[in-house]
Amino acid sequence: MYDYIIIGGGIVGLAAAYALLEEEPGAGVVVLEKESHLASHQTGRNSGVIHSGIYYRPGSLKAFLTEKGRKSLAAFCDQHGVDYTICGKIIAARDEDELLQLRKLYERGRQNGLQPRYLSLEELAEREPYVSARHALLVPETGIVDYGEVAQALAAEIRRRGGDILIGQQAEQIQEAEQSVSVTTPDQTFTGRKLINCGGLQSDKIARMAGYHTDIRIVPFRGEYYTLAPEAEHKVSWLIYPVPDPAFPFLGVHFTRMSRGGVEAGPNAVLSFEREGYEKMAVKPADAWEHLRSPGLMKLASRYWKEGAREYVRSFSRQAFTAELQQLIPSLSADELVPGESGIRAQALQEDGTLMDDFFFITGSRSLHVLNAPSPAATASLEIGKTIARKVKG
Ligand SMILES: Cc1cc2nc3c(=O)[nH]c(=O)nc-3n(C[C@H](O)[C@H](O)[C@H](O)COP(=O)(O)OP(=O)(O)OC[C@H]3O[C@@H](n4cnc5c(N)ncnc54)[C@H](O)[C@@H]3O)c2cc1C
Repeated sequence: MYDYIIIGGGIVGLAAAYALLEEEPGAGVVVLEKESHLASHQTGRNSGVIHSGIYYRPGSLKAFLTEKGRKSLAAFCDQHGVDYTICGKIIAARDEDELLQLRKLYERGRQNGLQPRYLSLEELAEREPYVSARHALLVPETGIVDYGEVAQALAAEIRRRGGDILIGQQAEQIQEAEQSVSVTTPDQTFTGRKLINCGGLQSDKIARMAGYHTDIRIVPFRGEYYTLAPEAEHKVSWLIYPVPDPAFPFLGVHFTRMSRGGVEAGPNAVLSFEREGYEKMAVKPADAWEHLRSPGLMKLASRYWKEGAREYVRSFSRQAFTAELQQLIPSLSADELVPGESGIRAQALQEDGTLMDDFFFITGSRSLHVLNAPSPAATASLEIGKTIARKVKG
């Protein structure tokens, strides 16, 4: 019998296993991952940004764990030879309305322990010569890393400490008993003292499988990227972001110099009709049917249909996507963009149509379910792992 069974070999599940083995050396830990390799979903398909924490409400779990998490992540990378760069990022405001938002972000950043700084237009031109903006904020604490590499380093540490990581093991049934919990995959049944659900895009379904029915549904939002053609890469030195719309949980399309090389532009945010469907036209009837039956999604759609429609236009029209990016870099042309990868965000939605902002867990009698771990959960992963370890042990 294992002490802890973890469902999900993304960065949150791996960080939870790592934290448990750190706090309880010799504990029996197994991570079950349904795919044939780790980090196949959100962890391996994201922007690779080490977020500073400037956006998050002071006092929220997101703000707290991101502030600590980016430091623990850098220390982990130093210790395990994972490349990362704390390069800072620019948030660019185009007009006076956006300046008001930028000022709010500046205040928020200060409250969250950061040292943001307004740049003069000369300083902006020196740092990012192709950017057009009326005002710009530099957030020096932001960085870049490849989260797939972090996940591999965590996996190596878990194995070194005696933990098991089993791929191709999809949890299909969960049974909680008084003294134990069992998880059945197509091959076998695993029994443990405690279960931790870090299933990302599937986490609400896994919670229901264990008997926990909440009003929370995971809504998949696909984010599509372009990469800059090599001859245009010089137009981006590091990271360039717009001022985000405060009504949305997403940051707006931005430019990211990637840790593994190259520059990405994106992601947009379109509702996906398949939880793990990375192609534009992907539809899984069961997932689409779930959307149609979801009162929360219907409420959200009626509130934001115009913004949603604009995202779809950008998804299908390279010209529209380029026009959005040209707000930041006017000299960028459509033929300097090469279609790139996409990723799907697991965003928790409540029945009243509210998008959950903060990280969120529910605790069962022998289980803990991570029901909302959207961005910046990769940045904060090591601290989320410690939080999970404390919660399941307590
Ligand atoms: C487009 C995009 C951009 C982002 N950019 C950033 C960024 O720059 N910085 C940042 O900090 N965060 C970013 N994020 C967020 C970050 O990637 C996620 O918050 C983080 O990776 C979540 O990790 P996870 O382990 O919870 O989920 P995942 O990585 O999705 O892992 C969940 C795992 O559970 C497995 N699983 C599911 N069901 C089962 C089952 N039944 N049995 C066994 N295994 C199962 C899945 O196969 C998967 O491997 C971004 C996300 C996206 C999508």
